[in-house]
Amino acid sequence: MTDFIDIILPIPLNKALTYHSSNPLQTGLRVLTPLGTKKAVGFVFKSHANPEKTKTKGIYQVLDKTPLLTPAYLEWLLWASQYYMAPLGEVLAAAIPSPLFEAVSDEKIRTRKSRAQSQTVLDTPHQTVTLNPEQKGALDLLIQDSNTGQYSAHLLHGITGSGKTEVYIELAKHILKSGKQVMVLVPEIGLTPQALARFQKHFGNEMGVFHSNLTQNQRLLEWLKCESGENKMIIGTRSALFAPFKNLGAIIIDEEHDSSYKQEERFRYHARDLAMVRAKMEKAIVLLGSATPSLESMANVEKGKLKIHTLTTRATGQKMPEVLVVNMAAQKRQTTSPLDLSVELIKAIEYKLKQGEQVMILQNKRGYASAIFCTACEKALTCPHCSVPYTYHKHGSYMLCHYCDHKEKRPDKCTLCGEPKITMLGTGIQTIEEQVKVFFPKARVARLDRDSTKKKNAMADILQQLADRKIDILLGTQMIAKGHDFHGVTLVGIVGVDLALSLPDFRSAERTFQLITQVSGRAGRGDKPGHVIIQSYGPHHYSIDCASQNDYARFVKTETDFRREWGYPPYGRMIAIKLSSPQQNILSSFCSDLERKLEKQKFPVSVLGPAPQAIEKIRNQYRWHLLIKGTKEGPVHQVCRQILDMIGKPSKIRVSVDVDPMSMI
Ligand code: ADP
Ligand code: ZN
Repeated sequence: MTDFIDIILPIPLNKALTYHSSNPLQTGLRVLTPLGTKKAVGFVFKSHANPEKTKTKGIYQVLDKTPLLTPAYLEWLLWASQYYMAPLGEVLAAAIPSPLFEAVSDEKIRTRKSRAQSQTVLDTPHQTVTLNPEQKGALDLLIQDSNTGQYSAHLLHGITGSGKTEVYIELAKHILKSGKQVMVLVPEIGLTPQALARFQKHFGNEMGVFHSNLTQNQRLLEWLKCESGENKMIIGTRSALFAPFKNLGAIIIDEEHDSSYKQEERFRYHARDLAMVRAKMEKAIVLLGSATPSLESMANVEKGKLKIHTLTTRATGQKMPEVLVVNMAAQKRQTTSPLDLSVELIKAIEYKLKQGEQVMILQNKRGYASAIFCTACEKALTCPHCSVPYTYHKHGSYMLCHYCDHKEKRPDKCTLCGEPKITMLGTGIQTIEEQVKVFFPKARVARLDRDSTKKKNAMADILQQLADRKIDILLGTQMIAKGHDFHGVTLVGIVGVDLALSLPDFRSAERTFQLITQVSGRAGRGDKPGHVIIQSYGPHHYSIDCASQNDYARFVKTETDFRREWGYPPYGRMIAIKLSSPQQNILSSFCSDLERKLEKQKFPVSVLGPAPQAIEKIRNQYRWHLLIKGTKEGPVHQVCRQILDMIGKPSKIRVSVDVDPMSMI
């Protein structure tokens, strides 16, 4: 008897294709099949008796002895492809190392070798701890739920320094003991060598490390180690979510609010959301952790989809840092000083340095000046490839585009009108660095941002120096806000968070609140109390006000009211359709036509645009978008499909879909 078999293949569709085979095949095996006029490797999904009366082709060859993937895993990928409206080809490319799509047997692939991974772990002292009652309470409930062998989802809301990581470690130990596997997702591996070291200390060789900077072979090797059970645990960035564990016990997502969990190209998924779906399908437990949970997660708590556990005190017994907000607008009215550092911050730094304590300063803007203007023609110099003003970088004296990395020497004359009337506008982190060095010439100052960490190991080196107290003042972008646990830091200065609030994105208040709270949380983690100084030109904004008072609940309430009123996520659903083209006129005339067609339609949800995106051109691609917004997922998805059909496959225009978009810019 012939079996009909659905195969999941790397194709630009959201569904499996049906083939036939003379004998039944186990789900998860790789097979070589005909595809059009070519051959392709796919995964056996389902065998069934009665296909939809279509002609089917036969399978050429079964490649594997034993299945690489479980039925639940494949089901999950298919779900992801459909939910995110991403072609299966893109989903498979994100999930499965590319060598597995070669027509080679599993046995052969398993013999491939790779260079060992080099990971810089940070050497900081960490003694074993006994969980405090709050940590223990949360852990007990987590263990209780995980013992049921059923899916459950949890949110660990613990203030900065409350010891969330210890809870993750204890939960992971428990799950491993029960013979199941554990996945830990972190925002950026390079940024948290400390967290990595803590996990490695406990789990050593049982744990693999997975992130996007692995070579193809390293990725394959780690992936296969998860498949074979040699890795019992994996720690990694969002792509680690695709580790093919066959007996998954828990997915732990640290700093669940972090925007790096959203993939912003090709297959645009959100690792947190996709983790919850995977855990459900594989009957595992999910633990999200954060000091500043996303509004999405708080809405899930409200709906009963997440159980919340709270840690309200710092694990070391230290108080939360004392916060002072400095109104920079008022200060500027009183002086003519061009300084970006407030009197209060300078005094506080002076004091802390005298005490031998360390300081962190956040300025979330790279470079020296955020725009280069010509006062003769009154224009900003912009990148030739992007509709973005150049940023001026003083070290090396060049202008840099932060979107495509195009670089040019700083010109003496305006490149547009030729007049020598160039002036710099806006402050960046290098300006702050310069001012700090003028005020504190004896202090050891370092800067942590994308520009200072280009060289291999530069980031780990800087963090190690901070740990070894060889740095007195560390300046940084949001990179310094993430998870670091340095006990010598007792002062955090926050300059320049106002700009983020003016971005045309409904999440800008949430991001600002999270950033201030996270970076503030770096102060006073050891035995000395911490202090935070927030400089702001608009200190009355609720995100700054709530963050300075450490009032998460009030922030969530205010933000929830705003989102509800406007139907923004999580109180509404959104999908963006993005259209891009190297040819501006082709794109704009296509979009105008589309607009006319859309106007004639009646949709059950609102359709906004098409309109040019806030940044109209990046890397020579012109960008338009269209937003579908409604209260329920079903109709929003349906209208999106309908519009995609109307759009079809226009020539010279790339069409992509962003379900639950995170960035509006
Ligand atoms: P979070 O992840 O919530 O920011 P961490 O897990 O990094 O917090 O813990 C903050 C600090 O407190 C770390 O230095 C950690 O070693 C310490 N710590 C955690 N739990 C305890 C505990 N029960 N007793 C003493 N110190 C603890
Ligand atoms: Zn550019």
